[in-house]
Amino acid sequence: MTTAADFTFTDYKPYDFANRRHIGPSPSEMAAMLAVLGYESLDALIDDTVPPSIRQTEPLAWGPAMTEREALDTMRETANRNRKLVSLIGQGYYGTITPPVIQRNILENPAWYTAYTPYQPEISQGRLEALLNYQTMVCDLTGLDVANASLLDEATAAAEGMAMAERVAKSKATAFFVDENCHPQTIALLKTRAEPLGWTIVIGDPFADLDPAAVFGAIFQYPGTYGHVRDVSGLISNLHVQGAIAVVAADPLALALLKSPGDMGADIAIGCTQRFGVPVGYGGPHAAYMAVKDVYKRSMPGRLVGVSVDSRGNRAYRLSLQTREQHIRREKATSNICTAQVLLAVMASMYAVFHGPQGIKAIAQSVHQKTVRLAMGLEKLGYTVEPDVFFDTITVDVGRLQSVILKSAVAQEVNLRRIGTTKIGISLDERSRPVTLEAVWRAFGGDFQVADFEPGYRLPKSLLRTSEYLTHPIFHMNRAESEMTRYIRRLSDRDLALDRSMIPLGSCTMKLNATAEMLPITWPEFAEIHPFVPVDQAEGYRHMITDLGEKLCTITGYDAISMQPNSGAQGEYAGLLTIRAYHIANGDVHRDVCLIPTSAHGTNPASAQMAGMKVVVVKVSDNGDIDMADFRAKAGQYAANLSCCMITYPSTHGVFEENVREVCEIVHQNGGQVYMDGANMNAMVGLARPGDIGSDVSHLNLHKTFCIPHGGGGPGMGPIGVKAHLAPYLPGHPETDGGDGAVSAAPFGSASILPISWSYCLMMGGEGLTQATKVAILNANYIAARLKGAYEVLYKSARGRVAHECIIDTRPLVDSAGVTVDDVAKRLIDCGFHAPTMSWPVAGTLMIEPTESETKAELDRFCDAMLAIREEARAIEEGRMDRTNNPLKNAPHTVEDLVGEWDRPYSREQACFPPGAFRVDKYWSPVNRVDNVYGDRNLVCTCPPLEDYAEAAE
Ligand SMILES: *Cc1c(COP(=O)(O)O)cnc(C)c1O
Repeated sequence: MTTAADFTFTDYKPYDFANRRHIGPSPSEMAAMLAVLGYESLDALIDDTVPPSIRQTEPLAWGPAMTEREALDTMRETANRNRKLVSLIGQGYYGTITPPVIQRNILENPAWYTAYTPYQPEISQGRLEALLNYQTMVCDLTGLDVANASLLDEATAAAEGMAMAERVAKSKATAFFVDENCHPQTIALLKTRAEPLGWTIVIGDPFADLDPAAVFGAIFQYPGTYGHVRDVSGLISNLHVQGAIAVVAADPLALALLKSPGDMGADIAIGCTQRFGVPVGYGGPHAAYMAVKDVYKRSMPGRLVGVSVDSRGNRAYRLSLQTREQHIRREKATSNICTAQVLLAVMASMYAVFHGPQGIKAIAQSVHQKTVRLAMGLEKLGYTVEPDVFFDTITVDVGRLQSVILKSAVAQEVNLRRIGTTKIGISLDERSRPVTLEAVWRAFGGDFQVADFEPGYRLPKSLLRTSEYLTHPIFHMNRAESEMTRYIRRLSDRDLALDRSMIPLGSCTMKLNATAEMLPITWPEFAEIHPFVPVDQAEGYRHMITDLGEKLCTITGYDAISMQPNSGAQGEYAGLLTIRAYHIANGDVHRDVCLIPTSAHGTNPASAQMAGMKVVVVKVSDNGDIDMADFRAKAGQYAANLSCCMITYPSTHGVFEENVREVCEIVHQNGGQVYMDGANMNAMVGLARPGDIGSDVSHLNLHKTFCIPHGGGGPGMGPIGVKAHLAPYLPGHPETDGGDGAVSAAPFGSASILPISWSYCLMMGGEGLTQATKVAILNANYIAARLKGAYEVLYKSARGRVAHECIIDTRPLVDSAGVTVDDVAKRLIDCGFHAPTMSWPVAGTLMIEPTESETKAELDRFCDAMLAIREEARAIEEGRMDRTNNPLKNAPHTVEDLVGEWDRPYSREQACFPPGAFRVDKYWSPVNRVDNVYGDRNLVCTCPPLEDYAEAAE
């Protein structure tokens, strides 16, 4: 029976949860947490935590927050302002078909896209296998021995190739030769990277202008940007005679038909796997690759997946060698690559699994065949088609007709490439259809049908591929979609991502990546726009980039922003180059000293090194703050040559330092600029602005604070905000302003993931963003309070508060119980958690960052697990548990541990179901503890042999 009360309207608005989407704790949970901390209100906690001297005065005000539906409508309208034509522009970006099974089950699947970088191998076996497949695919296609997974884009990969060549070459020359057939954006990046390091770039025709004795290396594009397919073996041998290194930039699809770079003698191959199923997305993200000869593997930048064994001797994957290169080598690091393009590398590897070698070859052949057909039609019309032999790209000299034909093509809904003032470039791809060819012919004044031509190969016989590729069984599995779906599912099930539990990784801000924010990125009007289309076809993108940029300026207190850098580390590099250019413009060519505290993230000194700066390390005092006396002394000592300082705020120790304004003033007084690393913006948005505190430039990790998912180690976006005086020195790009200093292949970096950050800002509104910051601080302080007594929180403010993260000390357990930070991290896996950031910025500690997204229940589950681990250590301390044979040392436990003999001095129940672990939904680590040393000693970086694949390859 209903009562009258059922017919009265309530105040409850069903969709009024704009802020609750991102904010985990409910109002009552927040009240309970504040009570634990002893505060009446959230604002009282914030007032006690964020120093008044840095608080921003004006709230973030840009109108009310949008609902989910309003935001999606806005995204739809914005998408519709992009004009989706067929782009045959090529130049490194090609149409491709993402197999739907990969789009839905990987790109649109939080089990894949919310995962973290696989530093904890036991909970990352799925993505590590996919990445090993990627490396195997790249090695096979390039004919080289070892490949990494992955680099940011083809142009940065070329720059990394050059830098690596300089390191390993016997030649002592200081010049690098660049094939004029490289893509223009690749040439631009090579110039950017070479200039501060004092290397000369020589651009020319390698067959006419290359003097191998004058260079430490050379790069050739294969096929060239205008289509040439040329054998560079002779040039490579000449380089080798002079102790110089050969880099080949190769299109992996072309390599299905062409002799591999390895077979031509190349030392290094680089390129991009975009056309293996990853949409162009107005420039990115896509995975670039690098493959090298075995002798150079230890000098290769980026991440390398290898095969090792676990404590039972079973096969297990892990990141090998230079896993955390910058953190270990710091200013001596050779590359600053941190976030890479893991999700996209996974997609490309699955594309190869999906198609297999025959499928890839068939796609390559079909692309070539279409291109020959197109050329035949154009020749019939009387045009001269260059070059004689080509794969998928041709260049047509059309003289004064250039603009007319380009315009006529656009009228046929096709974009062609403008080359100089008289030529047109055309690149065909997997998506090109007969109607596409016919439209191009019409644009050139021809009325043909594809059946009018009988194409034959136009590839040089001597360069046809004879070696096999993708021979491993993984590329020969039964590709019924049921099997593909299950393979993808099996791999993701091995991993622990945000769709299962919180990932409390200090500094990495693993927050919610809301579904509504993710939806637009696969809409064709965002995904299928070539980065070099005419501006009027990308109005939606331009509008979004402008509006998001303005919002980020408001949030940070900067005046201008560059969206070009496609990772935080690239942002650092771009920001330092901006500072450098500013000094040079002021005549201060000599200013090259960069002050960096010892606590800085490893990418900071690595980026400074790449920008040609001299790193001077500044001490950190016992309480974790910058040592002001040392800072002042060093700034004074190097005043004449001071370029800048790099500081992180709140500090990497998770504290709002009171003296940050003073730090900025000291640097300015000594003629330097302030670079504030913005990775910790999640503690500041709406409360404090770097620009107000005195900083001149910062990068923002949109894949941390602004909700772009980590993708298992990328993609990311690292735009930089600057004060007005630095704005003229922001990176240019050959395809937009023709300016110098490009740091990414595409003018707006990985533009296609910007809808995520933009919709986050729109759905939160200024008020919601500020609330998120406050709750992030509340959650961190709550964890610190709950763990009190069990673990010491290493750094706190004078008032006893932490910022948005806290570092807990596990070092005392080493002496008292023989328990290492590793043991704690691995035991957390049994409890169903990804470990916090381990041993950074202080060895032997854990840095916990819960973010605002986690509910009190989830925080409590994590704290319960941490407290139980402390009790297990206590049992060891008190002699109730064995020092070597205990649940901490034997963690993680697998299903294998449950069957067969059990002779351990603790129960299976205790082993597998410690506090925190779910019973029904228990996460089972697929391997026991992985042996790191074994993996580095016995380096295997491609898929292991068939026997090991009993399950996967059936
Ligand atoms: C994550 C991080 C970086 C590097 O960002 P990437 O996007 O991984 O290159 C730099 N500094 C700090 C403090 C960070 O936490």
